[in-house]
Amino acid sequence: MWKHPGKIGTGARSLEAMRSAGHATSALSAPARTLYGVDPHPGTGQPFASPVPAGSGWPGDPATPRTPRALDAAGVQALAASARSLAVLQARTSVCRACPRLVAWRESVAVDGRRASFADQPYWGRPSPGFGDPRPAVLVVGLAPAANGANRTGRVFTGDRSGDWIWAALHRAGYARLALSRHSGDGQRLTGARIVPTVRCAPPANKPTPTERDTCAHWFDREVQLVEPSLRAVLALGGFAFDAFLAAARRLAWAVPAPRPRFGHGVQVSLVTASGRAVVVIASYHVSQQNTFTGRLSEPMLDAVLARVRALAPP
Ligand code: SF4
Repeated sequence: MWKHPGKIGTGARSLEAMRSAGHATSALSAPARTLYGVDPHPGTGQPFASPVPAGSGWPGDPATPRTPRALDAAGVQALAASARSLAVLQARTSVCRACPRLVAWRESVAVDGRRASFADQPYWGRPSPGFGDPRPAVLVVGLAPAANGANRTGRVFTGDRSGDWIWAALHRAGYARLALSRHSGDGQRLTGARIVPTVRCAPPANKPTPTERDTCAHWFDREVQLVEPSLRAVLALGGFAFDAFLAAARRLAWAVPAPRPRFGHGVQVSLVTASGRAVVVIASYHVSQQNTFTGRLSEPMLDAVLARVRALAPP
C-alpha cells in the first residue's frame, strides 16, 4: 500500500507560525528550540523540524510534499518498480514508512533520543537514499544508516566515525571531492562512484530484521538495476552488504557463482549482469568503529581494496 501525502508543515512554516504568534524566533535559546522542535541546520543555519518534512529545503532532500509514500512491503515493491529514474527512486525512498519498527526508531531518535553532542541540531529522521554519481562505475554498498549519523544528516555515511573512514579513503582514491563529510550541503561530491545502504533506515543496534531487509531490498534492487548500465565494480563493506548484494544480483537474474561465495576481507567475485556485462564485487571489512578501533581494518587494508576497485573502474 502507498499513498500521496496530505499537506505537510515545514520547519520554515513552523517558524512562521511562531513569529505570527509573537515569539522572538531570531533569538531562540537552545531550550526554546527544543520546546518548539525547530533547530538550525549545522551548515546553512536554516531552521528545521525533526524529523525533517519532505521538501522543506533540507540540502539534498530529493522529495517534495507530494512524493508518494510506501506504507508496507507491497507499496515499496510497487513504487520501486515504477521509478523510472534514480531521482524518482531517491525521492520515494526518502519518505518510505513501510517498516513500523524502523520508522518508530528513526523518529524517536530524531525527537528525544539524540546524542548529547548533537542535541541542538535538527535530525533528518527519514530513510537515507543512495548518494553520488548517477552513472557510477563503482557502487559502494553499506549496511544501514547510523542513528546519530545519516539518520541525523540525511546522507549516507555522513556525520559519524565510520563515514570519516570511508570518505577519507574515497578521497584518497580520487572518487570523493572532500576527505571529510559532516553534514549535508557541505559540497561533498562523488565522481564515478555511488554509495548505497542495503537497508535505508537506522535499525536499533544496527540489526535490521530479515523482514526489514527483504522489504527494503525492493529499493535496493531497483537502484542496482538503474545503475547497472555503467557499473563495473562493487565494494561491499561487511558481510551483510556482501550477502545482500549477491542476493540482489540473483534476484536480478545476474550470473552468480555457485556455491554462494563466502565473505572475507579482500574476497573478489566476478558476476555477469542480465545484459551480459561483467561486474566485479570486492569485499572489505566494514568501516565500523568495532573494526577500525580494534585494528581489524586499517587504512592500508582499505586503501588496498580500493586500489583494486580503482584498477577496474578509475574515477
Ligand atoms: S528500511 Fe527501507 S523499506 Fe523499511 S521503512 Fe526504511 S526505507 Fe522503507
